[in-house]
Amino acid sequence: MTKFLLKNKILSFSILAYFILFFSMPDIATTAINQSSYYIKEMFMIMPIVLILSALIETWVPKETIIKTFGSKSGIKGPFFSFLLGSLSAGPIYAAFPVCTTLYKKGAKVSNIVIILSSWAVIKVPMLINEYRFLGGEFMVIRWILTVIAILILGYIMERIIIKEPLEVKAGSKEDKNTLEVDCKLCINCSLCAKQWPKYFIMESKCAKAQVTHLKPKEIKEILPAVKKCPVNAISIN
Ligand code: SF4
Repeated sequence: MTKFLLKNKILSFSILAYFILFFSMPDIATTAINQSSYYIKEMFMIMPIVLILSALIETWVPKETIIKTFGSKSGIKGPFFSFLLGSLSAGPIYAAFPVCTTLYKKGAKVSNIVIILSSWAVIKVPMLINEYRFLGGEFMVIRWILTVIAILILGYIMERIIIKEPLEVKAGSKEDKNTLEVDCKLCINCSLCAKQWPKYFIMESKCAKAQVTHLKPKEIKEILPAVKKCPVNAISIN
């Protein structure tokens, strides 16, 4: 039980906060529990559909298609389809996370993930229709243009500063073995890693292979650019 609570720190913190609230301000605690129950019910209704959709993308959509549409080879198509996907989506923003995780793992660029999430959150079509009805066309159009510009800038900045650490590198935890691995199911045999980091990778049977498995801290620093540059996120440090 202690292990579970330590592993799920946010959940543990929320439970603790509810307990404190319940004893100090029971009325507010009751309102909070009612609100939370509403959102939990909503999540139970929406999340199965979203998870099925993510699993279908994972299974049926080839990684080359994702890379061509949202990845490093997508060019101008990437932002276009990212805006389209985010704007035409339905459901709350948390439904976007599993979909974006799947796209990200299959090679979508950070900037396009930012565009999908941001447009899902603030420029969805139903939202724009309501905005038009309540605040007028001029307001809606100007807000849309400024928001799109802001999202593009945000995507560009995120692309520059994010190394795929959150999903691909878990360095820092006590259980780390700092093992360098290449997922051959994802690798597209582009040889980029082997050409730029020959100390760490060689190409074998149409897949990059790690030459050094257990990395020292200094080597992790050296190898992080390879993790970032792999166009399909096939390299990981576990
Ligand atoms: S950079 Fe990525 S896709 Fe290219 S060979 Fe290396 S592991 Fe494979």
